[in-house]
Amino acid sequence: MPEKILDDISHRRYNPLRGTWLLVSPHRTKRPWQGQQEDALKSTLPEYDPSCYLCPGNKRAQGDSNPKYTKTFVFVNDYSAVKEEQAEYKQEESPKGYLSSLLLRAESVTGKCYVLTFSPNHNLTLADLTPSEILPVIQAWTQIYTTHLSPKSPLAAVAQPTKLAPTGLTITAPNAQYTWMQIFENKGAAMGCSNPHPHGQVWTTTGLPDEPAQELEQLKKYRKEHSDCHMLEEYAKLEQEKEERVVFQNSTFLVVCPWWATWPFEVMVLSKKHKRALVDLDDQEKLDFAEAIAEVTRRYDNLFETSFPYSSGIHQAPLEGSEEEVEASHFHMHFYPPLLRSATVRKFLVGYELMAEPQRDITPEQAAAKLRACGGTLYRKLL
Ligand SMILES: [Zn+2]
Ligand SMILES: [Zn+2]
Repeated sequence: MPEKILDDISHRRYNPLRGTWLLVSPHRTKRPWQGQQEDALKSTLPEYDPSCYLCPGNKRAQGDSNPKYTKTFVFVNDYSAVKEEQAEYKQEESPKGYLSSLLLRAESVTGKCYVLTFSPNHNLTLADLTPSEILPVIQAWTQIYTTHLSPKSPLAAVAQPTKLAPTGLTITAPNAQYTWMQIFENKGAAMGCSNPHPHGQVWTTTGLPDEPAQELEQLKKYRKEHSDCHMLEEYAKLEQEKEERVVFQNSTFLVVCPWWATWPFEVMVLSKKHKRALVDLDDQEKLDFAEAIAEVTRRYDNLFETSFPYSSGIHQAPLEGSEEEVEASHFHMHFYPPLLRSATVRKFLVGYELMAEPQRDITPEQAAAKLRACGGTLYRKLL
């Protein structure tokens, strides 16, 4: 295989999803793999923490009380990054303000931010949950997405009311039509998450944020240049043939360390067939998605026998977009974990990465092989 030589030489890899490059330096990993250096620990967290603002029955910062929920619970973030109502802003348009309008640009953003707990148990993480226990989280995401979907979107026709509504507020359509919904999770202190209670966030905003905007441009361009083929569907097919970067798969989803991964153990969960958004998944496909999430998070924890930190997020069709944008979107989830060689050795994106372009030592193929090898029971259950 001509690619084999890439195991030994420094090279750049192209990320077609973002239209960017990264530097790979595999020769730097010739030093022996050290594996984990710390002892594996059982979770010492309690099942219920009276001081946790996410545990069932507890009071939150602004005085609201959480219900005694049993699966998932959703509420509007008490410290939202964007609000539904705010003062109007319009950029100055006078000739005097010409340079300002060119170089000091701003635009107003409104939106709504939700917090969603994954379990009532304070000491569990997605890695501890079975696919059927993760399913209510996916149902809740789907419900929030459906409620915020533009009636003009081609997806509105397929969106079904969800059967398993999360406990908490009744999610109602906001007053304004937002463009983008970002579902994400920050897990672990290394990612700046202060509360270990399993939870994620859902931010909806006017305007398309940079990351999804960049991907959407690339997906649209690929379709135009390749007779309407979907880039990620073709990529999934290619990765299934090559096998070397595949971590796990079921009939609907493929889990790969992408060819262009920046983070050492970065993973992408992508639908094998072209799916535009959560609402395109039927019940079995949602369960397959839950299984893929369970496999990724459990393998992550098993890798260094630690509760593995990461940021994860879902990219799918915008809530409101042109038919071209909705059709070009391909449902997928990114996992960006910072750990490199052990529970304490992490990668920082600094220096060359900030000033030039991302760089990695361990290849995505090496990372995938390690993640493939650590499936099975969660290590904590064997302690
Ligand atoms: Zn809690
Ligand atoms: Zn993406």
